[in-house]
Amino acid sequence: MSSPLKRCQTVPVAVGDVIVGGDHPVVVQSMTNTDTAEVAATVAQVADLARAGSELVRVTVNTAEAAAAVPAIRAGLDAQGVNVPLVGDFHFNGHRLLRQFPECAQALAKYRINPGNVGRGKKKDEQFSAMIEVACANDKPVRIGANWGSLDAELATRMMDENAQRAEPLDAVDVTREALIVSALESAVRAEEIGLAHDKIIISCKVSGVQDLVAVYRSLAQRCDYPLHLGLTEAGMGSKGIVASTAALSVLLQEGIGDTIRISLTPEPGGDRTQEVVVAQEILQTMGLRSFTPMVIACPGCGRTSSTYFQKLAQDIQGHLRHMMPEWRKQYAGVEEMTVAVMGCVVNGPGESKHADIGISLPGSGEKPVAPVYVDGEKSVTLKGDRIAEEFQQIVDDYVATRYAKK
Ligand code: SF4
Repeated sequence: MSSPLKRCQTVPVAVGDVIVGGDHPVVVQSMTNTDTAEVAATVAQVADLARAGSELVRVTVNTAEAAAAVPAIRAGLDAQGVNVPLVGDFHFNGHRLLRQFPECAQALAKYRINPGNVGRGKKKDEQFSAMIEVACANDKPVRIGANWGSLDAELATRMMDENAQRAEPLDAVDVTREALIVSALESAVRAEEIGLAHDKIIISCKVSGVQDLVAVYRSLAQRCDYPLHLGLTEAGMGSKGIVASTAALSVLLQEGIGDTIRISLTPEPGGDRTQEVVVAQEILQTMGLRSFTPMVIACPGCGRTSSTYFQKLAQDIQGHLRHMMPEWRKQYAGVEEMTVAVMGCVVNGPGESKHADIGISLPGSGEKPVAPVYVDGEKSVTLKGDRIAEEFQQIVDDYVATRYAKK
């Protein structure tokens, strides 16, 4: 699917084989929550995230053990044929770890540097320089990732003091937003002075409030042409995290702002980390910016539905499509743009089914126990009996095999 929106022009940056920025599609990324020092667990989670569709995966590199594990994690992924680029997340001790573990520095495709967490005073400059020099020596890009929760304290204090001297001081929140932007942009200028190329820098300024994020990124987009990594930090759990992230990112993406996105969801205990990838893909797909997985259009159900049967069918079909997509994507061109409707009764069922590539209209209460199926807008067959779900799934599989060209 080509994007209907004009994107803000940014300089493309190569992160391994993935290009972020320019005219390239918005890249989906995610982050592990395993202990990076635990190689097997981290390999397994990175592979899960990559298979779910994450195009970059970030791992924290917070200790010597974590840095030492990174080359083994890369090797473990390569052995499984998972070539997703790995990004290293550094805070406080990144200057030491990147120097002491050159194989880690080499195995990573990008370094994330938080300008608020690289040290204080004179050490800040030295330690920031040390990290940028390693990036230059290894020809790696960096993300200069400022964050509301770890804003450069010295810079914020300086800007607050300057604001207090003004005839008409700005609100503290405006000064804080500006400090976040200045922290990222001044660090980028400094990185270029040290020798990092302009097309090796990605910027982010993450905040946890929707209006703050929109204001900060609108300003960033006007003030630089670095690719922008977009995400609401600490979005939260469950529907709150999903809604807040979607609200913030949709406004900015609609304005053409953002080159790569990450959804920072807090998983439920024992929850699936890949949910953040699914949400990122669904935001981009429902906005018409990219296609990842065939879309299931399902009605919400109401008093006309005689049972939860149709909800289960919608869920099963969605699960089946996601399960099949890794194979289908390799085999069939354009299959990710397919639409499948699963509707609960005759009121909107036939109409919505005709608009989809394939649709099924299940019987509502009081209707005959039959389910007409529509293919490319025409009624093709009417299913009945106990095997409607299996038969419909087979129709979907046959449609994919015949409708989409083999790659
Ligand atoms: S299609 Fe039928 S079951 Fe579904 S919401 Fe509309 S009226 Fe209710």
